[in-house]
Amino acid sequence: MKQSLKNFDPEVFEIAVGDLARQQSCLTLIPSENYASRAVMQAQSTVLANKYAEGYPETRYYNGCHYSDQIEQLAIDRAKELFGADHVNVQPHSGSQANIAVFHALLSPGDTILSMKLDHGGHLSHGLPQNFSGKYYNIVHYGLDPETERINLETVADLADQHRPRLIIVGASAYPCQIGFAEWRKIADSVDAYLLGDVAHVAGLIVGKVHPDPVPYCDVVTTTTHKTLRGPRGAIILCRQELADSIDKSVFPGLQGGPFMHAIAARAVAFKEAAQPEFTSYQEQIISNARVMANRLMENGFRLVTGGTENHLMLIDLTSISAKLSGRQAANYLEEAGIIVNKNTIPFDTRSPNTTSGIRIGTPMVTTRGMKEDQMTQVANLITEVIQNRRQASTRQKIKTRVEELCQAFPIYEGIDQVLWS
Ligand SMILES: *Cc1c(COP(=O)(O)O)cnc(C)c1O
Repeated sequence: MKQSLKNFDPEVFEIAVGDLARQQSCLTLIPSENYASRAVMQAQSTVLANKYAEGYPETRYYNGCHYSDQIEQLAIDRAKELFGADHVNVQPHSGSQANIAVFHALLSPGDTILSMKLDHGGHLSHGLPQNFSGKYYNIVHYGLDPETERINLETVADLADQHRPRLIIVGASAYPCQIGFAEWRKIADSVDAYLLGDVAHVAGLIVGKVHPDPVPYCDVVTTTTHKTLRGPRGAIILCRQELADSIDKSVFPGLQGGPFMHAIAARAVAFKEAAQPEFTSYQEQIISNARVMANRLMENGFRLVTGGTENHLMLIDLTSISAKLSGRQAANYLEEAGIIVNKNTIPFDTRSPNTTSGIRIGTPMVTTRGMKEDQMTQVANLITEVIQNRRQASTRQKIKTRVEELCQAFPIYEGIDQVLWS
C-alpha cells in the first residue's frame, strides 16, 4: 500500500515516463488533443477517485458523499457560469457517452436523426452504422457542398423537410469553418425537431468568444472537456431547464453507474482555468496561429479544404501534391520526423477512412506550448519539407532534430518527475 508507483511497478512508471518524453519532444498537431495543466492533472489523481457517488448532489445512493456533493456542485456551478447554461450535467465519461445520453433522453429507438456525414467531418457517435447511434436510430446525413466544401443550409433545410427528424445534430470533428447556430435553430423549428450542438472541438473557442455561441439556440449542447477546453478527459451536457430532469435521468441511471469524482474535480479546475482572462488570449492565439499556418501551407503549394480555416484546424488535400500520396503515408512520414498529425478523409474522398487523401492539422497544442505566428510559419515549412522530400529518410532525420530543438524551446510541464504530478 505504501510503495510508490516507481518502486512498486517500474514497468508502468517507465511507460508513462516514455510518453511524457514523447509529448515533450514531438510537435503534436492533432486538433482534438491538448496538454491539461498540472493543476488539472493533480486534481485527477486525488483520492476522490475512491468514492462511489451514484446519483446527484444531495440525492445519492451511497453514504459518505459529503465531499463528492461539494465537488460536483462546484463543477456544475462553474460550468453553468462559464457557458451561461440553465443546467449542466458534469458526469458523462466521454463525448460519445454524452451524445448517447442525449439520444436516450430525447428519442425512442427508430426515431430519425439528421446529422453530418462522417466522411465529410462528422463524428462516429452521429450515426456510424457500427456505432450504437447508427444501430438504434434512423440516420439521415447532410454532407458538404461539392463547390464550397461547406455545409449548405438550404440542403439541410430541404432534408429536414423531407425526413422530419426528431433531432438535428450540428457539430463536427473535421470542419474548418465556423458554425452559426441561429440558422440551425430556424431549421429545427421549421420541422419541430430538437437541436443538439455537439461542440466537442470548439468549446474552448466558444468560451474564448472566438466562435459563435450555441447555448442560446440549441436545446442541448454536448462537449468533451479535453480538446480546446484543455481540461481532463470527459464530457458535459448543457441544456434548457425543461430538459434537465430527462437528461440527468438518462446519464444516471440510464447509462452510467458511479460518476468519476476525481475526473469531475479535474473538470472543476479546468472550468476555473477557462474563466481566466489568459484563457481568452489562448483561444485568440489558437485562431491566429491556425490562420498563419494555413496561409503558409497554401503558399507552399498545398490545397486546403475550403481554402483555409476559420477555427483551430485545417485539412490538407494531399492530392494537390501527388495522386499517389495517401493520408496514412503522409502521417507516417511526419511521425518519423517528430510531427504528429492524423490522417483524415477529405470531402468526396475516393480513399477509405483507413487510408484517406488528407491529413488534419490543428494548433491547440502548439499554442499551449506558447508558440506564436513565427513558429507556425516554421512548422508549416517543416511539414512541407517532409512531404516534398518524402523519398528521403535522411530529410526526416534532419527535420526530427529541428523539431526537437523547437520543442525544447517551448517545453510542456516541468520535467520527467512531474509524471507523478507531485
Ligand atoms: C471528440 C468528439 C466527440 C467525443 O469523443 P469521445 O472520444 O467519445 O470523448 C463527440 N463529438 C465530436 C464532434 C467530437 O469531435
